[in-house]
Amino acid sequence: MSNVFYRSSKSYPVAVRAGGVFIETQDGRSFLDGSSGALVANIGHGRVSVAQAMAEQASRLAFVHGSQFTSDVLEEYASRLATFLDLPGYRFWAVSGGSEANESAIKLARQYHVERGEPGRFKVITRVPSYHGASLGALAASGMGARREVYAPLIREDAWPKMPKPDPTLSGEEDAERLRAVLEAAGPESVAAFICEPVVGASDAALAPNTGYHARVAAICREYGVLFVADEVMSGMGRCGAPLAVRLGGEVTPDIVVLGKGLAAGYAPLAGLMASPEVYGTVMDGSGAFKHGFTYAGHPVSVAAGLSVLDIVEQEGLVQAARERGAQLLAGLEVLKARHPHILAVRGQGLLLGVVLGDPATGQAFERPGLADRVAAAAREEGLLTYPGSGAVDGVRGDHLLLGPPLSITPAEVDVLLERLDRALASLGVPS
Ligand code: PMP
Repeated sequence: MSNVFYRSSKSYPVAVRAGGVFIETQDGRSFLDGSSGALVANIGHGRVSVAQAMAEQASRLAFVHGSQFTSDVLEEYASRLATFLDLPGYRFWAVSGGSEANESAIKLARQYHVERGEPGRFKVITRVPSYHGASLGALAASGMGARREVYAPLIREDAWPKMPKPDPTLSGEEDAERLRAVLEAAGPESVAAFICEPVVGASDAALAPNTGYHARVAAICREYGVLFVADEVMSGMGRCGAPLAVRLGGEVTPDIVVLGKGLAAGYAPLAGLMASPEVYGTVMDGSGAFKHGFTYAGHPVSVAAGLSVLDIVEQEGLVQAARERGAQLLAGLEVLKARHPHILAVRGQGLLLGVVLGDPATGQAFERPGLADRVAAAAREEGLLTYPGSGAVDGVRGDHLLLGPPLSITPAEVDVLLERLDRALASLGVPS
């Protein structure tokens, strides 16, 4: 009998080692990691230089508490990150995961307004659907019906006014203007921030708004004295073919950028946020402290992993690679869409791609979701890992697969991914 508390009652293969884009299990199978373990493993698996950097850091300085020390590695990383992301003067707040990072962003936004003498600004406008994390605050912020219902009541339901998801039939500017109505209805003097995923991840199959959306959102937020928070946990660090997805359509500077996953690419738990000079300065010039923290915030071994990952991303040109391999994969998915009518749409940016599945007869999601889980299971049989979302489109129902292999995937491996997905779809008896 196992002593492990599994996430579900299904049986889990035992992973034993991984290299490049492949993961091997104890029973001798090999899987192409088509979704980078939930869009995390940006540089691929088995990078010895990252392991060595972590070992060196652990033997030199494994841990110091963040309320008493900073570390040389954290200082260097924060500066390298601000340069890589082109966020001059921004301050890096390091935590261990995306949920912690979004909790930090929500609390920082609220405290920013308290320091400015506007304590009534506690609401955070979020979108439906969206996913910002599993902790109760981040989940309350998230617009994902299926996950929220079980854990109700969440934190002050009136604190999270909801904005509809991006509508690609509108211009980016028109689409963003809908934020104004949500702000007015919520009472602008009660709103601390607006948060969105620039390219939506697990909750809506890589949906992205049209060009101009984020710039207009940023302008509306400024007009109402509301902070603009970009949750780039999944979309950032090069995955979408730019250091930050929020800037894919032009110059935009959010007040807070939330990061995770690709920061240490799975080698260590590392996430965090970048806070603008205005946000950081207001808190430090006011009460002088962010009244929030986690024991493992800024852990030197995690940060050493992040620094080593950033070296690889820069040296190997992986941001550019995400653009190129992403275009190749999207073109291949278009071909599969023509062959498999249950694929209703393929979309995304760089190597954050979504395959929307549904009923070819209606062109809509099935009333009873489940197809994504079946396709993912068939893909596993073919040796391909995907990230299925059954019941996730619109946050309530529908099926999709997220695809996002490591940014280091080769062109030949992209072809292997497509062949395996093609065979998996064919094995379900879907006409081709
Ligand atoms: N924000 C986004 C956009 C995410 O995709 C995720 C994880 N899927 C999170 C936050 C939460 O991150 P974590 O699971 O590391 O807590």
